Amino acid sequence: MQLVIPFADEHVNGYLGRLCAINFHTSTNQTMKFLAAHFSSELSEKDSESVAVLAALAAKQSMKEFLQNHTLVPFRQISFFGAKSKDSDNAPDMISKRNSLRKLRPSAYLCLNCIEEDLAKLGISYWRRIHQLPGIDWCPDHRAPLHSICSVSAFSKLPHHLIELSKPTVCKNELTPGNDSPVWRYASIARTLLSSIEYTSSRMASAKLLNRAKILEIRLSVRGRSPTLSDHSVMSCPSKWLERLFPRVLQKEIGKSFFSIDSALRRKGTPSACTLALSVMFDCADQAIAYWMNSDIKSIDVTKHQNRGFDFWHSKEIFKKYISTKGNHHAVADFFGVNRLNANLNLRRAGLPALGNLTQAQSLALLDFFEGVSLVEACEKFNAEINVVEEFLRISSVRLGAVVKFIGDKPFQVSYKRKS
Ligand SMILES: [Zn+2]
Repeated sequence: MQLVIPFADEHVNGYLGRLCAINFHTSTNQTMKFLAAHFSSELSEKDSESVAVLAALAAKQSMKEFLQNHTLVPFRQISFFGAKSKDSDNAPDMISKRNSLRKLRPSAYLCLNCIEEDLAKLGISYWRRIHQLPGIDWCPDHRAPLHSICSVSAFSKLPHHLIELSKPTVCKNELTPGNDSPVWRYASIARTLLSSIEYTSSRMASAKLLNRAKILEIRLSVRGRSPTLSDHSVMSCPSKWLERLFPRVLQKEIGKSFFSIDSALRRKGTPSACTLALSVMFDCADQAIAYWMNSDIKSIDVTKHQNRGFDFWHSKEIFKKYISTKGNHHAVADFFGVNRLNANLNLRRAGLPALGNLTQAQSLALLDFFEGVSLVEACEKFNAEINVVEEFLRISSVRLGAVVKFIGDKPFQVSYKRKS
């Protein structure tokens, strides 16, 4: 079997297609079988079925280098869902072998100028990774519109053989964006991140973006008057480009949020949304990249607007604050910079009711109850209203027992000595 080394930034699917063509195979599946046989002494049975492993061996690169140089995995890792930060070491592995060939766009993309240069320099042309990324509609090197071919087998042919069948990605009357357009910042950020080994959890990604959004006073809440991230995107990006990247974005009302874009600030951003956020929130790509690469989550204050999901309301911080404020919902809300109504609802859901109206008798009855005394007996003992105590129990969790015990020694101003 004849093997060749991949070109710089050559896309894995195009590389396999090229190996297939050089060896006169009928399909890339056949190429895979030949590769598995060729490298059989170096492979475990499991690995002989992994396209990424075989392609890396053919390319004479380590698995990591190959993923880094020839797949879209690094771009997809810009914001990686599902993994907590402690899993960061394993995360790239989780998506590498299985999904390393996954495409991010339905078609295959090529640049006529790149092809012309390739043919002059190499005698053949090849598929570049950067062109296959969502949001790249013009070649970042030639600033010419990319052409696309919607065919499953496009990558098994060389790009110059498909020029006739290809169609321009942008509309006829669409102007090439100006030098300071976010389109070029997007391309430049995407290209840098595509060759970066950094893995970013979605938590870290949104914390960084959120921090920047706060500085720019971009609105994060549902209500309010200042523009949201999607408003800023609509205002600053060429509309047709943005609509291709995020369909229906132009139909959104100004001031309303648009999930696909605004979710970048809420731990649910796709790689494209995160890249767009960076290109909209910075005037210069280098600055955006430096911020993305160098700022780390420890230096970012994320306590106020971060983690408001289930984890946040069930966190130790919330619990500690709840105790130290003696169950005062408003004080907890103000401390974390959260809407008071919202805090009240979520704390109740987390089994931590507001204790402001809890009387001394009721808290002592609760304590006895948590220690195993029956509710009726406990209430009678301290002369506490049973229906009120019951109400507390209905929305409380076992954790309330610990709270009442902790603050129960000096409950609510008046000290009270319990009978032994
Ligand atoms: Zn080009």
